[in-house]
Amino acid sequence: MSEVDFPVVDDHVHLDPVNGRGVEAAEEFARSGGTHLFVVNKPSWHYGVEVSKASDFHQAFDVTLEVVEEATEAVSGRAYPVLGVHPALISKLLERGMTPTEAADLMKQGLEMAAEYVERGDAVALKSGRPHYDVDDDVWRASNEVIEKAFELGADVGCAVQLHAEAEEDFTDVGDRAEELGMSRDRVVKHYSSPGVEGVEASVMARSEWVEEAAENRSRFMLETDFLDDPDRPGAVLGPRTVPRRVKALVDDHRDALLQANVDTPEDVYGVEIEL
Ligand SMILES: [Zn+2]
Repeated sequence: MSEVDFPVVDDHVHLDPVNGRGVEAAEEFARSGGTHLFVVNKPSWHYGVEVSKASDFHQAFDVTLEVVEEATEAVSGRAYPVLGVHPALISKLLERGMTPTEAADLMKQGLEMAAEYVERGDAVALKSGRPHYDVDDDVWRASNEVIEKAFELGADVGCAVQLHAEAEEDFTDVGDRAEELGMSRDRVVKHYSSPGVEGVEASVMARSEWVEEAAENRSRFMLETDFLDDPDRPGAVLGPRTVPRRVKALVDDHRDALLQANVDTPEDVYGVEIEL
């Protein structure tokens, strides 16, 4: 097996220094050959925060910035923060008596706050989305307005938007909407993608058959584990060693595609340099 002589990037992980392993997981990633991580803040409720005003989002954001700093020390490349609002928050806010419009307004304020971090250079991208489970029409509409707000902000501050959304493959409409709002669809990233996702950029879950399929069939994609760093759900997602392992296993047959997925595409999407 050949050595991997280029950076190895996990496009979507969570590091939870409060409830989980935090920087230890980044160390494990590095020991396996990983070099760069995009670290997405966990939802506010994981930190015991019941969001009721915009400033309540700060805690989840600031915890993430701190652990990203530690993770940057742990890897040979670096870690980058991706900040935003988890789409399932809308359901939590409805349970607490808000209307869909009120909930969406609060979530948009959270995104505005995240965009301020990006503007200051403290984060590289926004995270938004819509529920991956069935919801009423008015909740769906409100969630789509939240996504549109994320696109407007992404266009404003010039950053990518990671999307958490339903497990489908045709996101042409979403990409079209992003472009109507001034963002390139190439900077809209469907997190937890299968290899067939179209219409926006795909961040493909690093299951071995999916990595191989993406490497064979796609001109652009990235790889992720969605490592949750949640001690209560240890088997719920792929572990931090997964992307480096997959890249090692497939580099002989798919070097060009993997180089693209680990360097060219993330550089293009996030506007950062991915170097060894
Ligand atoms: Zn995630």
